[in-house]
Amino acid sequence: MSHPVTDLIHHAYVPPEGFVAPQPGVFKASTVIFPSVAAMREREWKDKSAYTYGLHGTPTSYQLEERLCTLEGGLQCLLVPSGLAALSLVALSLLRSGDEVLLPDNVYGPNKALVEGELMHWGITHQYYDPLDPQDLEAQISSRTKLVWLEAAGSVTLEFPDLVALLRICRQRKVLTALDNTWGAGLAFKPFDLVADEVPALGVDISAHALTKYPSGGGDVLMGSVTTRDPALHLRLKLTHMRLGLGVGMNDVEAILRSLPSMALRYRAHDEATRALALWADSQPEFVQVLHPSLPGSPGHAHWKALCVHTFGGAAGMFSVVLDARFGRDQTDAFCDALKLFKLGYSWGGPISLVVPYELASMRQIWPAYIEKGTLVRFAIGLEAAQDLQLDLEQALRVLR
Ligand SMILES: *Cc1c(COP(=O)(O)O)cnc(C)c1O
Repeated sequence: MSHPVTDLIHHAYVPPEGFVAPQPGVFKASTVIFPSVAAMREREWKDKSAYTYGLHGTPTSYQLEERLCTLEGGLQCLLVPSGLAALSLVALSLLRSGDEVLLPDNVYGPNKALVEGELMHWGITHQYYDPLDPQDLEAQISSRTKLVWLEAAGSVTLEFPDLVALLRICRQRKVLTALDNTWGAGLAFKPFDLVADEVPALGVDISAHALTKYPSGGGDVLMGSVTTRDPALHLRLKLTHMRLGLGVGMNDVEAILRSLPSMALRYRAHDEATRALALWADSQPEFVQVLHPSLPGSPGHAHWKALCVHTFGGAAGMFSVVLDARFGRDQTDAFCDALKLFKLGYSWGGPISLVVPYELASMRQIWPAYIEKGTLVRFAIGLEAAQDLQLDLEQALRVLR
């Protein structure tokens, strides 16, 4: 008979098989145990045919990866510890010294920090293109261009680009495309099937997604994914993923698995409340411009309509306003501080509405001609009742009046 301490580790009890419940279980591991040396020697981590080590996945992460493929229309998926890690994985895997990456000028800010603060030191250069001018992208592609980032809608200013036109240019010039698909989330449009009836379908090569936002929906989990359709491209990304050791915690994966079934409903609720509030904001004299793809006057509205309306018409849960230039920074800050339901904080996709003032001049190469002069404030609409949020905005506007 073994010592009890050994029995506590190597216990004889095995629970019965066949347990089935609504949610998949949480399988956590650094070590994965092999049945034999032969199995250990033959370990296969490149696909999901077996298990080798916690960094390469467990049944829990495999299930989330497969569900994300279904969501976005991809065939392979990698999980990483944050949305930003998804962006950096793509860059580190695909770019080498001497290469150039092109980004839209309205790209997610930390992606600019990545190319300016890290990639530059490794001899990888970058250029910014006007997201609303496909010819500008075309003119900037050179033999050194190895990757083009796309974002729809753009960060903070929410311009909607002509994704189809941008992708056609990249396909013609044989440049890989990566979309930051956090806003569309696989619901507003299908990134791999933008023009599905073409062979092969016109779509992106890579979709990077901050699961931190809508898939989590709680404002409490950080995670990202990189989804592809091409096995060779996936393997390149997977090798880099393995070498960099970008593991995710299985309790976090479980939290996302739990939120995923309600995501489409939440996305629609965020979308409806956001549209109602954006429309109301459009009639307020203090706001000289309201940026939201569903508003006919918003930059790129026609592109949004062409791409998203025939799917389900989603436009996510954010809009931005430009405050009349007569209001200075102090007044904008006072307006944001006066909000009660809207909290000051980054990120979005959770139940709580959030507000952030932005200084566009410091974020862009040039102030876009289609954006009025003034201070920008971005609202991320949570799941509160829209009329309560409107009342909150009305009382905060009184600070300006
Ligand atoms: C939030 C966000 C990210 C980064 O996600 P984190 O998990 O916060 O690192 C990337 N892209 C976009 C468009 C985002 O909104």
